[in-house]
Amino acid sequence: MLLEDCSDKKIGRLPDMVRCSFADIEERRDAVVLTTDPAWKAVKGIAINSHQLIYVTGNTDAAMAGIAEACEGEVVYGIGGGLTIDTAKYVAAANGLPLIAFPTILSTDAFLTDATGVRENGCVKYLPTMSPDTVIVDMDVLCEAPASMRASGAADVLSIATALWDWQEAEKMEANPPDQRLTPQTINIAETLLQTLLENAREIGSGTPDGLKLLFDLLCMEVQLCNLCGHSRVEEGSEHYFTYAIENHLTSTNSGNVLHGELVALGILMMATLQSQPWMQYRHAIECLQINYRSPAVTPEAIVETLINLSQYVAQHELPYTVATTLQITPDIAKRTIQTVFD
Ligand SMILES: [Zn+2]
Repeated sequence: MLLEDCSDKKIGRLPDMVRCSFADIEERRDAVVLTTDPAWKAVKGIAINSHQLIYVTGNTDAAMAGIAEACEGEVVYGIGGGLTIDTAKYVAAANGLPLIAFPTILSTDAFLTDATGVRENGCVKYLPTMSPDTVIVDMDVLCEAPASMRASGAADVLSIATALWDWQEAEKMEANPPDQRLTPQTINIAETLLQTLLENAREIGSGTPDGLKLLFDLLCMEVQLCNLCGHSRVEEGSEHYFTYAIENHLTSTNSGNVLHGELVALGILMMATLQSQPWMQYRHAIECLQINYRSPAVTPEAIVETLINLSQYVAQHELPYTVATTLQITPDIAKRTIQTVFD
């Protein structure tokens, strides 16, 4: 077999990363800068020749394709959080350009992965795009991000709590495809990452350099574990499916203000309760992390609707076996679950 025919067998890897201050960066190439207003302000004075400066708002394939088409430059910079960097990966891949990612908040693991999540038909589809060629890690910028946002990516490590439960349950039910079998060793590694997060949630949530360095390391290890598995089931289970489903119910006026980590945190609490797990330790961790799982944009009615329809939703989108596959959630169970978690 020719090596070039083995692309589907390739093991993903983490991008190159450099630890430096944005003040030390000097970029002479014509740069296409994808960012948001607050992120661009956070790196004010960065020496990039921003040939095009684009504020990212849309999360659909069409929105990203529009930016990719208009893109003119020699290098793409993604400066900001998950959506910005996901879009930058899409734009750079579509134009065959090098990509520098500069996370200004640790709000997701998007700067470490080689796919772009796009919203389509009420669900999330991951398009293979590219890993950043280089990730710039400026701890000062990460520490100065708003407290309610800077560690919200921790939800993508905490989600091991419910996703691993789902994956184990699927293994028991013999519902895992041959290439997604779960081993005891993978369970051990994942549980160690989760336990480390739980034990250090206060330090991470306080936004200290040590805390955010640890969160950064945990995100790297979680993504590399997914790379080695060849899929994301260790951190993507029913809590993420709940997240994708409830995005469709967000009040349109506020939806842009809800972070991925806030919805995932809510999903973790709902699903952990429905899995009969000791969920209070997760709520305590989420509070220490300063992740707001009770966003005003997410109404109790929306949560009830989402829970009641979740099994139908995962069937419709052919999502892997999780607690959401079999659990029939009545309006009564849904209301009680919310009461329990919000009490
Ligand atoms: Zn996630």
